[in-house]
Amino acid sequence: MIPYGRQDISQEDVDAVVDVLGSDYLTQGPRVPMFEQALCDSSDARFATVMNSATSALHVACLALDVGPGDEVWTSPITFVASANCALYCGASVGFVDIDPQTGNMSVDALEERLIAAERDGRLPKVVIPVHLGGNPCDMPAIHRLARRYGFSVIEDASHAIGGSYADGRVGSCRYSDITVFSFHPVKIVTTAEGGAALTNSEDLAEKIRLLHTHGITRDEDRMQGPSQGLWYYEQIALGFNYRMTELQAALGLTQLKRLDDFVSARHVLARRYDEMIDPLPVSPLRRNVDCYSGLHLYVIQIDDELGDCRAEVFARLRASGIGVNVHYIPVHTQPFYARLGFSTGDYPAAENYYRRAISLPMYHTLSSEEQDQVVSALRHALP
Ligand SMILES: *Cc1c(COP(=O)(O)O)cnc(C)c1O
Repeated sequence: MIPYGRQDISQEDVDAVVDVLGSDYLTQGPRVPMFEQALCDSSDARFATVMNSATSALHVACLALDVGPGDEVWTSPITFVASANCALYCGASVGFVDIDPQTGNMSVDALEERLIAAERDGRLPKVVIPVHLGGNPCDMPAIHRLARRYGFSVIEDASHAIGGSYADGRVGSCRYSDITVFSFHPVKIVTTAEGGAALTNSEDLAEKIRLLHTHGITRDEDRMQGPSQGLWYYEQIALGFNYRMTELQAALGLTQLKRLDDFVSARHVLARRYDEMIDPLPVSPLRRNVDCYSGLHLYVIQIDDELGDCRAEVFARLRASGIGVNVHYIPVHTQPFYARLGFSTGDYPAAENYYRRAISLPMYHTLSSEEQDQVVSALRHALP
């Protein structure tokens, strides 16, 4: 089976992790801050806090922005459930903004329409979480303008987009957002097994994120409520979590990150090749913004509307011929848990139409051109 995504672990990665096992610190040692610094350097953000997952990073990011009961957080329905769940963890409610069918990203027009209505009803969101689907950056300058106009904060869910760029800067630089979150799950672009990060340029947000990801405990005397009672002393000043990343993971992240730009450029070679090869077929790839640079975590195709409801058959035929295709994503609002919160099928028609036609083809930088030929040939035969 050719999988839809997979990690690439080099001997240098292995050696880095084994070194940690023989060192003094398995957690809370020197490699975690080194990895954080490397992330800041590679994405032009001032502060980074690494964590045990992107889900944790999204949770803490919402808390740092004071999301709580009575607040609304809006995201795209075409994302992994974690982009919406983070708001529920904080006791807030979730809203969705329908997608632009060309890119699969949150539609800025739909966002503006919803904001106009929400302002009228006095229910503006506290935070909006755009998701860079497949790594292709959302229209962040436009979202940033709306954030200023309507007074909400922005968390970029860049789980797919590390190594990508906007027209004028790296994803992760937070030039259009308050906080950006990366994921280092093995199917993503660089991996730490499980892992994630929250990046920001705000010192205040960075301090809150850091505090909350480790129990709400501080050893910084300036932040303590009372005087320090000695060198052992720490104070818990907020209710935080244990969301820390281990030294083993940070060591792996450090060596993986060195290859980030190579990984992403190899994905671009593959994507351009897919674009050409599928051009004669009744499918189309998601549009990548030409003035941006995608992280290209995913290569999603949409089956042409005229072929009707055939995705399940095409998908089954591809799997049967050894192609590990996948679907990204089942619209979050149609999940049974979200249906219980009052959402229903029909709420976000563009997302639902996208879902009916979507298939993710294998995309990872060690995919060979022979394997790619095999994928496209299987696709040709699988289509009706
Ligand atoms: C993978 C993913 C997450 C969650 O990442 P974890 O590191 O597995 O917690 C969140 N959002 C999106 C869009 C993702 O693809």
